[in-house]
Amino acid sequence: MELRGLINSSPIVQTHNLSKSYDGIHRVHQISLIVEKGEIYGFLGPNGAGKTTTLKMLLGLIKPTEGTIKIFGKDLENSRASILNQTGSLIESPSYYGHLTGLENMRVMQRLRNVPNKNIDEVLKIVRLENQKHKQASQYSLGMKQRLGIAMALLAFPSLLILDEPTNGLDPAGIGEIRELIKSLPGQYGITILLSSHLLSEIEQIATSVGIISEGKLLFQGTMEDLRKNNKATIHIQTNDNAKAKKVLHAHDYKPELQEKRLIFEYLDDGEVSRINRILVENNLSVSRIQEHQKSLEDIFLDLTGKERSL
Ligand code: ATP
Repeated sequence: MELRGLINSSPIVQTHNLSKSYDGIHRVHQISLIVEKGEIYGFLGPNGAGKTTTLKMLLGLIKPTEGTIKIFGKDLENSRASILNQTGSLIESPSYYGHLTGLENMRVMQRLRNVPNKNIDEVLKIVRLENQKHKQASQYSLGMKQRLGIAMALLAFPSLLILDEPTNGLDPAGIGEIRELIKSLPGQYGITILLSSHLLSEIEQIATSVGIISEGKLLFQGTMEDLRKNNKATIHIQTNDNAKAKKVLHAHDYKPELQEKRLIFEYLDDGEVSRINRILVENNLSVSRIQEHQKSLEDIFLDLTGKERSL
């Protein structure tokens, strides 16, 4: 009974020190991912961070230089076939035969996957392609091609679905549709999802957990809430003479940063804010504003990755 409990609680994906080097350069460096059952795990990082390389390793498409991969609690190396049987994926652009219709493409996949006919109708309905299934895939819009790719990945109703940048290149309406589709999968079909994106806004709207990768390293992993909580607010104080205020406060061991019209402090508790206020007033400075500034998720992400505001 106890053993069963342990098995049930093992993560769906767990890597340990997963690394990949090309020409001696670490492109993925000692990544230890944990994706729990039922999550939508957002793997977030700027272009070239190592997301696709990591996802390809999870699917056995490329071999790690170092580290281990467990999926469904089993070693990928030893149980590759059974793991991949329960895993659906869409990496880079969807592969389909352009001269075949959506339905014919699904039939090809059905034979490969050896699943019942009814799965085709069901997944085409989920991705809302049932009315376009007789159209040639080469004539599909980008969003429809992407949905066909997801339908193929879903065909065997996998326990784990791995999607690399599933909304890349789509217009806002297409992005919204794919987002809603992905969000519905864990609840309706018990599918755990691992998806990558370079867009914080996407991850914010879709993911329950997030892993942030930059230059091959995992900088943060946890829930969205954890990400916000880890970052305390700064306190901004404005006086009639900020340069003098800075000097006075230095003498009391406070080292605020002077920025334009404000003094900026790392997080202070209420007692310290009152004390600083008192010191300033006692030194004939008038305090016109005391504000708490919560970092936006974008600020947090940019602080972590050190990237410019290009996302
Ligand atoms: P993007 O969002 O742009 O796809 P990514 O986070 O998925 O970025 P990867 O495609 O994993 O990034 O690439 C990470 C780094 O590894 C890049 O610098 C890339 O040039 C390098 N890289 C990937 N594949 C190879 C390869 N086969 N040989 C050499 N370098 C590679």
